[in-house]
Amino acid sequence: ATPTSIMVGTGRAAETGILFKGGEHLERTHQLQTIVLDKTGTITKGKPEVTDFTGDFHTLQLLASAENGSEHPLAEAIVAYATEKDIALLHVDDFNAIPGHGIEAKISGKHILVGNRKLMKDHGIDTAGHEQKLMDYETAGKTAMMIAVDGQFRGIVAVADTIKESAPEAIKQLQDMGIEVVMLTGDNERTAAAIAKQVGIEHVIAQVLPEEKADKVKELQAQGKKVAMVGDGVNDAPALVTADIGIAIGTGTEVAIEAADVTILGGELLLIPKAIKISHATIRNIR
Ligand code: ADP
Ligand code: MG
Repeated sequence: ATPTSIMVGTGRAAETGILFKGGEHLERTHQLQTIVLDKTGTITKGKPEVTDFTGDFHTLQLLASAENGSEHPLAEAIVAYATEKDIALLHVDDFNAIPGHGIEAKISGKHILVGNRKLMKDHGIDTAGHEQKLMDYETAGKTAMMIAVDGQFRGIVAVADTIKESAPEAIKQLQDMGIEVVMLTGDNERTAAAIAKQVGIEHVIAQVLPEEKADKVKELQAQGKKVAMVGDGVNDAPALVTADIGIAIGTGTEVAIEAADVTILGGELLLIPKAIKISHATIRNIR
């Protein structure tokens, strides 16, 4: 009866848009105590938009031209903002992504930097005078990035992403089942806390470099917890593999889907508590 009820369970899950790669994952879902959610593209829609820009026209042109070489959702938002303003993008001679920190580019002999405090600090650019403005954006849940040209601070661009409508309800259902919900993000503490508050998450792990996400999952497992990781990005793949259950967002990258044990179609977060309910019902039938 065991294999049959597992098959029935995975079949029922599939009908609702929860794709388990195998029956053993449905069994393991039953034991989950902690669910770690990536922020961008998992809790939020992953379609950020520029809300604020401080700086002159030429800075915006350099900013958007440099970001045109990046595939990051933040970069897409910046390029779309400049395109809307009919700003012509300049030829980029050299481009370099600095994961978790930002980008650097060479445009008509100028050196452009776009990114967070750490990136600016690493290049000896003093940002203390802009701290209040950065904090104001971040407290509002926005991601603020600074632009420097040839080592000189030139402006701030702030980008906001909206949370998925069903995120607060999905998180509440998980918490009501006694599951600990954690947010994991590369974004800064303040922005992460603002988004976490909107969706009802208390436990936030922020400013995590892409290559450190899996380590954070291991740390939770070292506390004796059975952990699920939910993510959409290439950056999330190692954490998805490390977790006891990796859950990919169906609208996410191919890499994340391949790394995961389960995919939820359409990125609907309510399917996560649903998957747990199905696993409980299935295991009850077995026993
Ligand atoms: P997330 O977990 O939100 O996807 P990342 O680890 O990709 O975060 O990035 C962390 C931070 O690095 C961003 O919040 C931003 O400050 C900076 N960053 C990353 N990519 C870019 C980019 N293309 N342009 C500017 N800043 C960037
Ligand atoms: Mg993401």
